Amino acid sequence: MNIDSIRNGIVIDHITAGSGMRLYELLGLDSLDVSVAIIKNVTSKKMGKKDIIKIDADIPVDLNVIGYVDPSATVNYIKDGKLYEKRNIEMPETLVNVIKCKNPRCITSCEQELDHVFCLTDREHKVYRCVYCETKA
Ligand code: ZN
Repeated sequence: MNIDSIRNGIVIDHITAGSGMRLYELLGLDSLDVSVAIIKNVTSKKMGKKDIIKIDADIPVDLNVIGYVDPSATVNYIKDGKLYEKRNIEMPETLVNVIKCKNPRCITSCEQELDHVFCLTDREHKVYRCVYCETKA
């Protein structure tokens, strides 16, 4: 895969340096049979250093996951080798089945079929809490 010329796919840009790998894992990209490149510590005029993820396939990505890991990221959709759409990301109000509650006494650890739901309770400090037991993410 030529990482500079994606024909149809997605480029997640302006990821805070060091967050690229976590985003890759939370998006579940490791389990997909598509070409993905993570480029770490790219020099950026705006940010100093940044990470970039390039996905060489037109697959749906969960913008809530990106917003949770890094709301300063931008998502570029590439179609026929050209930038087709650019989206800024926002911190989502709720996260469903993105992260799991760490509280061993939480109902989600015994009731396996329950969704793992977290709500944004403090936007300024980026605090998410489990809706069942209020444990911080
Ligand atoms: Zn919980």
